[in-house]
Amino acid sequence: MKSPNTDSSNNKKKKEKVGTNVGKTDSSLPSDFIRDIVAEDLKTNKYGGRVHTRFPPEPNGYLHIGHAKSICLNYGIAVQYKGLFNLRFDDTNPIKEEVEYVESIIEDIRWLGADWDDRLFYASDYFEQLYQFAVQLIEKGKAYVDDQTADEIRETRGTLTEPGQDSPYRNRSVEENLDLFGRMRAGEFEDGCRVLRAKIDMASGNLNMRDPVMYRILHAEHHRTGNKWCLYPTYDFTHGQSDSIEGITHSICTLEFEDHRPLYDWYLNELGIHHPQQIEFARLNVSHTILSKRKLLQLVEEGHVTGWDDPRMPTISGLRRRGYTPESIRTFCERIGVAKRDSTVDIALLEHCLREDLNKRAPRVMAVLRPLRLVIDNYPEGQTEELEAVNNPEDASMGKRKLLFSRVLYIEKDDFVEEPPKKWFRLAPGREVRLKHAYIIKCERVVKDEKTGDVVEVHCSYDPETKSGGAKAGRKVKGTLHWVSAAHALEAEIRLYGHLFLEANPNDAEEGSDFKANLNPNSLERLTVCRVEPNLAGAAPGSRYQFLRLGYFCVDQSSSIEKLVFNRTVSLHDTWAKIQKAQR
Ligand code: ATP
Ligand code: MG
Repeated sequence: MKSPNTDSSNNKKKKEKVGTNVGKTDSSLPSDFIRDIVAEDLKTNKYGGRVHTRFPPEPNGYLHIGHAKSICLNYGIAVQYKGLFNLRFDDTNPIKEEVEYVESIIEDIRWLGADWDDRLFYASDYFEQLYQFAVQLIEKGKAYVDDQTADEIRETRGTLTEPGQDSPYRNRSVEENLDLFGRMRAGEFEDGCRVLRAKIDMASGNLNMRDPVMYRILHAEHHRTGNKWCLYPTYDFTHGQSDSIEGITHSICTLEFEDHRPLYDWYLNELGIHHPQQIEFARLNVSHTILSKRKLLQLVEEGHVTGWDDPRMPTISGLRRRGYTPESIRTFCERIGVAKRDSTVDIALLEHCLREDLNKRAPRVMAVLRPLRLVIDNYPEGQTEELEAVNNPEDASMGKRKLLFSRVLYIEKDDFVEEPPKKWFRLAPGREVRLKHAYIIKCERVVKDEKTGDVVEVHCSYDPETKSGGAKAGRKVKGTLHWVSAAHALEAEIRLYGHLFLEANPNDAEEGSDFKANLNPNSLERLTVCRVEPNLAGAAPGSRYQFLRLGYFCVDQSSSIEKLVFNRTVSLHDTWAKIQKAQR
């Protein structure tokens, strides 16, 4: 069955863009303190009426949902104010960065729907220009080569309450600095024996301003520049100058860079070049998961998950494999808004946005996770009947499909009990239920396993007059069950996922342990003998469905014609809606 929402068919359509304002009224456009600044700058013509943003990932891991927030914000602002958006890799650390990460980041941002046209840049492309900027600062007497070791520099940096000490090399002549810096580039010195520092103020109340390191010697191969350089600029010296080179107007970043802003400004002022405005916002935290590339890498490397794209991971590739749609992630990013104070968003909101979206687009099918045989004793043996079922009650244009009905079916084990509790509307001895799209059946007797006493088969009678859509279909019974025909159903493996972490805040670990102590040992349950309706034969990886009464599921990338594999994207049970209701 071809799904209308596989990723490949999505790509063919004209891409809907993040933050697009087509057809939106002004009041429905997002507004926040950053957009207020941008609007004001446009009014005062601060950057000649230009708006130009960027997303600057370091290619040292896969993108996560926190990065999605930053992408939606930067790209959304560019679209809303008819500006431009760049993708720039901040690739200044040759040791931790890899081409694999670059490729995954490009794929993920495209998938989210952000578009940088031909403006894909790498900070490493600016290494020569950055080197020249550093030379300019040396010539101005604003930078010097320091022969102290990293330890010595750390020890003389001072503390929040005490000023640092000037380096004995701080007052080298410009000529000596230029000579040494040139020889650092030429590869004359070993790693770590010299650095270039900005000459600012060792007594500054802001530690970032105490003669920060601009360049370090590192004889390491870079994923793009190879062995051309053995001298690499620091993040702080690279970031603002790269923004400037690209003509960025609003350099939006997360709050931890607030204390770096004076340095960002200092470099640009001293160099006298185009000066974007850095604006900080609160990073996204989501409950029951972690958004730190370093920690996510640990989970991958130590085998706690199967990879960066494990469907339990909060990475974009993990969410995609899990069955998330780009639209649901964009809606989530819009709903959480942009703030100046750190907070944690309940993961239930992310799931809620996903359900809302999948409810509209996912075709309904029937699947049984834990099959229990059900025999309809008064249904003719060998007979097969075609029934009609709507694909999506929310969207008639998604059409109908045929279902095969026969004497032996599977229902969900959970849908039968021998001794029903109060308010049990599912099947039990002597009780009637409707089989979805089919007939009303009544449980007549059960067959048990002699040894275990478990019910292994339920025998029922059916009322042929009660066919769905037929004249007497109106007869009411309280429960409706999903089912598949035993002879026609396909076998499938279905993977159920729980939260990756048990604690809402995984970093909240006991003394002596870390976030990994909070990993949920039951975050993955594999059901290997599930049965799904035959319409799912050959379902393409990435296709999404609602399994009636169970939740939304997505065909895993490992799925094949021989062996269907599904991931449960999200259950139908909406905890966010409940939380909202309780608050009202
Ligand atoms: P991590 O902490 O996961 O390693 P990072 O900040 O080091 O992330 P970068 O590649 O430097 O990762 O991030 C690229 C951009 O994404 C930066 O502008 C950063 O501020 C932003 N960003 C990273 N994490 C979040 C988050 N949780 N919420 C919002 N924006 C984020
Ligand atoms: Mg970073």
